[in-house]
Amino acid sequence: MTRADLLERLAVQTSERERANLRRRLRTVEHVEGPWLESEGRRLLGFCSNDYLGLAQHPQLIAALKRAADDEGAGSASAHLICGHRREHAQLEEMLAEWTGRERALLFSTGYMANLGAMQALLARGDVCVQDKLNHACLLDGAQLAGAELKRYPHADVEAATRQLQSRPEAAALLATDGVFSMDGDAAPLAGLAALCAREHATLMVDDAHGLGVLGMEGAGSVQAAGLGQREVPVLMATLGKALGCSGAFVAGPAALIDGLVQFARPYVYTTAMPPALAAAACAAVAIARDEDWRRDRLQALIARFRSGAAQLGLPLMASHSAIQPLLLGDAQAALDAARRLEERGLLVTAIRPPTVPQGQARLRITLSAAHEDEHVDRLLDALAALPRGGSAGRPV
Ligand SMILES: *Cc1c(COP(=O)(O)O)cnc(C)c1O
Repeated sequence: MTRADLLERLAVQTSERERANLRRRLRTVEHVEGPWLESEGRRLLGFCSNDYLGLAQHPQLIAALKRAADDEGAGSASAHLICGHRREHAQLEEMLAEWTGRERALLFSTGYMANLGAMQALLARGDVCVQDKLNHACLLDGAQLAGAELKRYPHADVEAATRQLQSRPEAAALLATDGVFSMDGDAAPLAGLAALCAREHATLMVDDAHGLGVLGMEGAGSVQAAGLGQREVPVLMATLGKALGCSGAFVAGPAALIDGLVQFARPYVYTTAMPPALAAAACAAVAIARDEDWRRDRLQALIARFRSGAAQLGLPLMASHSAIQPLLLGDAQAALDAARRLEERGLLVTAIRPPTVPQGQARLRITLSAAHEDEHVDRLLDALAALPRGGSAGRPV
């Protein structure tokens, strides 16, 4: 027996992806201006960023970032627990806790790390972690890293979640769900899940990466929009890289949760704190996101315009009222073809293929932003109308 060569095996796996039309490719973007991107020498109108409120290039964020960089430098130079926890981080944590109605908040460098950290601190071997099948990859990875038994339920099915929880009545349990699902755009049945968790003495965790800033009063997110608070959803995670236009993430909740994360969440303890200038930019983003309801109103108007136009065209829309408006196409080749045709017309919409979405559910993940104009949405609709129908393209799955 000879050992398998790891690099060779990886290369084989990559070429298998190529054959199945599932190979991912990097695209270098040379310049961004609002919803417009320049890439490979062309100017494209983008419908794939997560900058839902159009804050990523807001002058106040940029000014806050520059000012803090001038004063404090480029990097934090250390982990939070050594000497990297700066005034900008502390201020941002206070603002996030206040905004989301939680006792405290704790910053992480990315949402991926926040989920890994929270789950690894909370869960132990022998515990059960119940999750929606369509949860973001990092929630699934978090349960696995923690060594908990992962039990998944069909999408948004509270009855099935109940059966999964009741199958391990003695085990300590965390139920984790996206607030708004990243590839489908629909909202989790939070009230039903909260009632279930209360009955079954399970802890509810919501990943609100796509709800914060967009939903709820002052954009406080899905949990607030569902009329729930810290008592019903003690573990709230959200990111700063989507509607807030920055980068990074946080977990918010009771003081005991945050104290425990500082002690035990390895992806918090053993990593460099985000640059203080980025925290300063995020503070500016939170203030604008809370204050400027017109951005949410604008986004909702664009969503309504897109949905009514797409319905008139007979396109297979999904049950989403969020900024994420996927167009289900079925097989990977159909999604790639559609994306290529849109690009020929100057529009950038990425094809999302398995394993990011289930087999046979490749799609165009269209996202809207308050930075779009009505006329941009109309251009997108015109281009979608011109896609060839029949075959696999345009067929609802
Ligand atoms: C984007 C995303 C994350 C990861 O956040 P990053 O800050 O990009 O690492 C986690 N959960 C969901 C639902 C997301 O959409």
